[in-house]
Amino acid sequence: MALDLAQQSEPDEAQVTAAVEAVISAGRMAAARHWVPATSGNFSARIDAHRIAITRSGVDKGALEAADILIQPLDAPLLPRSSAEAPLHIALYRRRPELGAIFHVHGPASTVLSRGVGTGTLRLQGWELQKALAGITSHEEAVDVPVFANDQDTARLADLVEARLAAPPHDARLAPGYLLAGHGLYAWGASPREAARHLEALETLFEFELSYRRFTP
Ligand SMILES: [Zn+2]
Repeated sequence: MALDLAQQSEPDEAQVTAAVEAVISAGRMAAARHWVPATSGNFSARIDAHRIAITRSGVDKGALEAADILIQPLDAPLLPRSSAEAPLHIALYRRRPELGAIFHVHGPASTVLSRGVGTGTLRLQGWELQKALAGITSHEEAVDVPVFANDQDTARLADLVEARLAAPPHDARLAPGYLLAGHGLYAWGASPREAARHLEALETLFEFELSYRRFTP
C-alpha cells in the first residue's frame, strides 16, 4: 500500500516541478530580451485544474529560483508575497481551462506602442511573423490585440479582459494576449512553450509596428 501511495504522488510532484521550471525558464528568456526591467513582469504555468505556479512579487525574473515561485490554488485567496497582478493570471486560468501558461512583460515595444494607440484594438496585418500565433496561417489574416487602459484595480481589469475575449471580432482573429496601455503585454498559450512563442512573436510584431509607423506618413 505504501508503494501505491508513493506511485500516486510521483506524477503530482513531477507536474509541480515541470511548472516551476517552465516559469523559471520563461523569466530567464524575458530578462535576456530586456522585457522585465527592475523586477517587473510575472510568469505562471498551470500545474493541474486547481493550481498554478506563479512568480512572487519583487524578484528579478532573470535570476528566479524555485523558492521564488508560489504554488497558488485557483480557488483560494492570494498567498503571502503574491504579485499585485496575480489576480489577472488567476481569473484567466479559472475561466479558460485550455490555458497552460501566461507570461506578462513590460517590454519596450508593447509598453510604448500600447500607449500610442490608446485603448480599443491594435490590428496586426501583413506580417509573416503572425503565423507564429496558433491558428494563424497567413500574413493576410487580421489579428486583433485588445488594448485596455492601465488600472491598479486588477479585479475590474480581469472582468474587462474576459468580456473582450468572450466577444471576438467578426473580421479578425483575436491574438493570444492583450496590452495594457503604457504598461505591457500579457500573452498565453496551451503550454509554456506555446506561451513563450506567442510572447516572443507579439513583442517582436510590436517592434515591427513601431518601426513601420516611423516610415509611414
Ligand atoms: Zn505589469
